[in-house]
Amino acid sequence: MTSYSLHGAPDAGADFFEVGLGEREITPDLKRHTVWLAGFGSGRRAEGVHDPLYARAVVLRYGKRKLALISIDVIGLFYQEVKAVRAQLADYEYVLISSTHNHEGPDTLGLWGPNLATTGVDLGYMDYLRQGIIRAVREAEKQLRPAHARYGIVRAPELLQDSRLPIVKHDELVVLEFISRDGQQRRLGLLVQWNCHPETLGSKNKLISADFVGVTVRALVEKYKCRVAYFTGTVGGLLSSLGLPIRDEQGRLLADGTWEKTERYGILVARKVEEALQGAKAVRLVPWRIRRQVVYLPVANRYYRAAAQLKVVVRETFLWTGNPYQRREAPPDAKLDDLAIETELGLLELGELKIVAIPGEIYPELVVGGVQDPVDPGADYPEAPIEPIVYEEVKGPVRMLIGLANDEIGYIIPKRQWDERPPFCYGRKQAQYGEINSLGPETAPILLEALRRLAREHKDVKLR
Ligand SMILES: [Zn+2]
Repeated sequence: MTSYSLHGAPDAGADFFEVGLGEREITPDLKRHTVWLAGFGSGRRAEGVHDPLYARAVVLRYGKRKLALISIDVIGLFYQEVKAVRAQLADYEYVLISSTHNHEGPDTLGLWGPNLATTGVDLGYMDYLRQGIIRAVREAEKQLRPAHARYGIVRAPELLQDSRLPIVKHDELVVLEFISRDGQQRRLGLLVQWNCHPETLGSKNKLISADFVGVTVRALVEKYKCRVAYFTGTVGGLLSSLGLPIRDEQGRLLADGTWEKTERYGILVARKVEEALQGAKAVRLVPWRIRRQVVYLPVANRYYRAAAQLKVVVRETFLWTGNPYQRREAPPDAKLDDLAIETELGLLELGELKIVAIPGEIYPELVVGGVQDPVDPGADYPEAPIEPIVYEEVKGPVRMLIGLANDEIGYIIPKRQWDERPPFCYGRKQAQYGEINSLGPETAPILLEALRRLAREHKDVKLR
């Protein structure tokens, strides 16, 4: 393997990286914390624990540079919380915290409390969660070993239900396998990335669970005898296991909201990972180029504004200046119309691998293409151009997208598919579900333009 380095990367001379995986349980203790289960309606108080929740960390070191990719079995984490964790991991060049978007775990955002006017967040639990994340990273660090990597990818459209028109699935399941560089070629860990809402147990369940993700990880740990970290990717628009016909070994259809379906679905995802591993190919993960962009997004959603006013959701707010790259503190008397939130996009180039970090639930048509064209005359913004498409800006073949990365800003909907006002698209009598959980119609245009800039920045950089 030849060694080369980018301009301005003095420590990038080595041609190998090290990897370590670590994990910590982050299951809430129901004796100490009041847990409101997040993701469906409010008022769903947890009555017990079915299976544990985890923070799982993959730490990579390249020369003196370190980065951490962390996955947590919760609904989401706001950017300000991520910044608080990063402050305690200041020795890291980049820290990515992605939530699996678990719908059977504690409310970590505030929207699912006892009622709509009361937060569901338990501050004591948030403290425990932050500590769990940091401990998982420090544990992973202790495991650091020189490694090789292999990258595998398979498509699994049969494991996704898309509940909103147009039907577009981001159906690529990706796995990274880490193997020791010593003579033993030991398997050091797996990083799995798939695109489905962990909500198979449905809205009636009252027990804490990691949903199918817990099943998938356990099955893979058992088979491959190594640590496994699972990351959620594209889940907007709306990719789920709910409503998806899943059958057991005997061909019996398994009902939504059951443990049987959840376990079966988790096993089917694990089998896809096995298939991806069978076709996996060696991939070079150095040198590194890590880019991120902070952006400000206007808050148009009136429910989010009301939730902020009621302190149901507590989030840092800024003044919306019309410029998504301009940070301006909001005065105490700022009008709700003028508020913006701060979030961050990431683009990691680790050798041949590109990782896109998206701070919410992006619609698949914005990742793989397929935004409605020609536009439906019922759309609210029929003149809106199609946004830059993630995988046209970030070319493959070795890539992955991590969603809910460093934030959960809600749905990222193509502006020309925004459809709150009649007449509705597809001749429907009612609007489709989605806009109620989005900051607003400008979210996708701003974020995807920012990603386009990030992807094209310094494109002419020369390799020495
Ligand atoms: Zn969701």
